[in-house]
Amino acid sequence: MHAGPPFLLQQMTWPEVKEALRTVQLAIIPLGAQEQHGPHMTESCDAVLAEQFAIRLTERLHPLAFMTPPIALGISSHHLHFPGTISLQPSTLIALLRDIVRSLKPHGIQRFLVINAHGGNQATLGVAADVLTREEEIEFYYAKTTASAKDVMDKHIRSKVYGHSCEREVSEALYLAPELVRQERLAKGELTEEGRWRKLRPGSPLQGFYYYEEMTTNGCIGDGRQGSRKLGEELVETALTRLSAAVRDILDP
Ligand SMILES: [Zn+2]
Repeated sequence: MHAGPPFLLQQMTWPEVKEALRTVQLAIIPLGAQEQHGPHMTESCDAVLAEQFAIRLTERLHPLAFMTPPIALGISSHHLHFPGTISLQPSTLIALLRDIVRSLKPHGIQRFLVINAHGGNQATLGVAADVLTREEEIEFYYAKTTASAKDVMDKHIRSKVYGHSCEREVSEALYLAPELVRQERLAKGELTEEGRWRKLRPGSPLQGFYYYEEMTTNGCIGDGRQGSRKLGEELVETALTRLSAAVRDILDP
């Protein structure tokens, strides 16, 4: 017998999966990235945070959801000039998601939710939702891990610009996977004064692509030194509560 919640496909036998399919309505797919996270976080950061968050969400939704193996690579072209970064092309990611859908749909899974921990994946997930919903005739959803806890960020985060290897991300890691953080190397983002990035940031009239080194010399945006396990717990648990309620809303009663 399967040892108990949550349903994680990687740790189950096929008879256990078959049994779980009597209640499961949703496949949860963790999605991260392999990319530079400055001097104080390892490059698997987003992949590990997505997986750890997704495990907890699968637990909360038990027995209505199972989790697929995590996708540890994402769209990281903007980080490629830092060593160690590996990026998928958007078309590769969509093809990979389509293959997951086509493998699980014949077994009765009609709804898919990508738990994404990397901002660079969001635009491609928007396209995937459009294409896969129509072409594969399924329901496709995606959520950025703690994005629904924006009010918690606004309450605690003082940096004007943050979002990469910053106080938010360090806090989430200290709570979910502290081995990702090099505590003795914690550094503030070294933002460049010059550069097109200030003209292209979200909220600007003009949008466009820029490389990360145009914006930050050490690869961070924000101040990781201000991160704490406590803030990570508040962010993650608030987001889990909101997201699991939103997911239950789209499932059958
Ligand atoms: Zn990250």
